[in-house]
Amino acid sequence: MKNNPSKFSNILRKYVHLRQQNGVITVWLSTLLYSSVLSFSPLAFSSDNQPHVAPTSEINRTQVCHNVSVQVLGSGGPELDDGRTSSAYLVWVNGKARVLVDAGSGSSVQFGASDAAFNDIQAIALSHLHTDHAADLPSFIKGSFFTSRDSDLLVLGPDGNDVMPSTSAYLKALFGSDGAFRYLSSFLQEGRDKYTLRPVSVELSASLKSPYATDISDNISLEALSVHHGPIPALAWKVKANGCEVVFSGDTSDKGKTLSEFAKGADLLVLHNAIDDNAGGVAKHLHMTPSQLIAIAEQSKAKQIVLSHIMKRSEAGLSALTEAIAVVAKGRVYSAKELMNIPLDQK
Ligand SMILES: [Zn+2]
Repeated sequence: MKNNPSKFSNILRKYVHLRQQNGVITVWLSTLLYSSVLSFSPLAFSSDNQPHVAPTSEINRTQVCHNVSVQVLGSGGPELDDGRTSSAYLVWVNGKARVLVDAGSGSSVQFGASDAAFNDIQAIALSHLHTDHAADLPSFIKGSFFTSRDSDLLVLGPDGNDVMPSTSAYLKALFGSDGAFRYLSSFLQEGRDKYTLRPVSVELSASLKSPYATDISDNISLEALSVHHGPIPALAWKVKANGCEVVFSGDTSDKGKTLSEFAKGADLLVLHNAIDDNAGGVAKHLHMTPSQLIAIAEQSKAKQIVLSHIMKRSEAGLSALTEAIAVVAKGRVYSAKELMNIPLDQK
C-alpha cells in the first residue's frame, strides 16, 4: 500500500472536521492528524486504543466465526471503461458458494472464473435493481440450464415503488409469459422438473428495529435493512453463517444513519465507495461520501472493511481513503478487486 500523505491528510482532515461539528472529536485522532501524517504506518493504529464495549451481536454469538469467506466478483459500478465488473459478491460457507449478493453486469463471467458451482447457491440477494446490481440475473438463469441444478432458488430484493418494480415484478418482467425473456418462462413455473425461481420482495419498512430476516438453510440466515438510495428502493444485506456475520451496504446515502448499527461488530463490512467528497448534491443523495465511510467504519467496529463499487471519480482517492479508514477501523481494510477472496475468521 502506497502512502499519499497530502491526499491522506486531506481526507482525514475532512473527517475530523465532520466529527468536530458533531462535538465528538477524540484527542488521539487529532494528535495523529496534526503530528504524524508524513511517516505514518496505517496498521500501527487502531481503535482498540479506545475503551471497547462489545456489541450485542458479539455477545450473543454462540460459536466462533469459522470457515466463511467473501469473494468479490465485481468491484465496480456501471462505467463501461473502468476495467471492473459491476457489483457482485459470493459468500462461501464450508467450501461452497452459498449466497450471491447482487448480480451486476459481467458477474456471471466472474462467477465462472471463481470455480463456484451454481448448484450450491441457496439464495441470490439483490441490494436494488439498478443495472450494475441486477442486470446479469438473466445470464445466471440461462446459464443454469447447463448445470444439474434441481433445487428451487430464492431471489430476494426490495419491494417496488413509483420508480422501480418490486423484485417479484422484475422477475416477471424478465421471465414471465409476457416477459422480455419469455423463452425462459418455465423458470417461474411451479412443478418444473429442474428448479423454480422463488422471488421474494422485501418490504421497504425493514428497519433496525425489525429487519427482514429469513433462514435459507440450517446454518445460513439473511437479514435486510431498507436503506436510502435516492428514490430507489434499496437494501443492505447481512449474511450470518457459522458464527460469522458479513454486511453489504449496497448503494446508499446512509441518510438514516443506520448502517453502522446494522453492521455493529460484523466480521466483514463491504462499503460502497462510489463518489468523492466533492460530489454534487444528486450523487450525495444516492451515495456515501468518503467522510461518511470513515465514520461508519469506525462506529461499526467491523473487524474487516472492504471498499468496493469503485468508480473513476472515487478511485483517485481510494488509496488515501483506505489508509484513513485503517486509522480508525478495528481491523484490516481492503480495496476490492475481482476474484479476491477474504476469509472472515482472519485475525
Ligand atoms: Zn444504485
